[in-house]
Amino acid sequence: MTEAREQPTSRRLPGRVAVVTGGASGIGLASARRLASEGAHVVVADLCSEETGGKIAADLGGLFVQTDVTDPEQVTAMYATAHATYGSVDVALHNAGISPPEDGSILETGIEAWRRVQEVNLTSVYYCCQTVLPYMVEQGRGSIINVASFVAVMGAATSQISYSASKGAVLSMTRELGVQFALSGVRVNALCPGPVNTPLLQELFAADPAAAQRRLVHVPMGRFGEADEMAGAVAFLASDDSSFITASEFLVDGGISSAYVTPLA
Ligand code: NAD
Repeated sequence: MTEAREQPTSRRLPGRVAVVTGGASGIGLASARRLASEGAHVVVADLCSEETGGKIAADLGGLFVQTDVTDPEQVTAMYATAHATYGSVDVALHNAGISPPEDGSILETGIEAWRRVQEVNLTSVYYCCQTVLPYMVEQGRGSIINVASFVAVMGAATSQISYSASKGAVLSMTRELGVQFALSGVRVNALCPGPVNTPLLQELFAADPAAAQRRLVHVPMGRFGEADEMAGAVAFLASDDSSFITASEFLVDGGISSAYVTPLA
């Protein structure tokens, strides 16, 4: 069981402008809320309906821009709107991602499923970084957080081949950008969550509870993470508290990537 955590009270991002892709659900939604509570103006960019996204943004005192991050024109328009509305873009959380059931073992995964996952999970991060970097370089300030995964650094016999490959590529792209732009005032980090209790994971495991159990045994903390716990890491990477951290693979994974043998319950 997850113990109740105290609500955070820090305000490290007053007046900063934070864009969150995939901000209508799971890790993105929790992060959008946390960034707003830290004082940021939040722009939620998601595929979801205007009604859903508009309500989320209104609750945060922010802005919703309906965006398909696989479409470069929509990405360009979304960042232009964020910049025009608030005057800067200081934080970019590139979080939108999918994990469809058609993506499994390499022996069964067709090219359509492979390409779709690469488009949403990887190519979108390329579009988003390519679009936001000029704003940040011009400002001489910015924090980009690209959401990868612990599967970028570990292999799984319960394979999702395109997903894992996409996250490995997000991690290497992030490392390269972090190094390339290190002197510009722009930091670029990858957040690598362990398994997190979100709709993405719940859908995956609803179909196959044994698969959930099979994975849980590898997490030293004996539980999946919560979206709020990812949001705490996002707020840290977004803020000046992480001012000397760039090009990192920031693992927030309950210890899974360091474990050989896990504790008995
Ligand atoms: P989620 O399914 O709860 O939310 C994903 C959001 O992305 C949704 O709101 C969806 O509408 C949006 N989205 C999907 N395709 C989009 C597109 N083309 N354009 C714009 N928005 C789009 O997922 P989550 O579990 O919160 O995952 C968020 C990120 O964290 C993903 O990149 C995922 O791969 C990564 N991650 C998740 C876990 C986990 O266990 N949940 C672990 C490691 C990494």
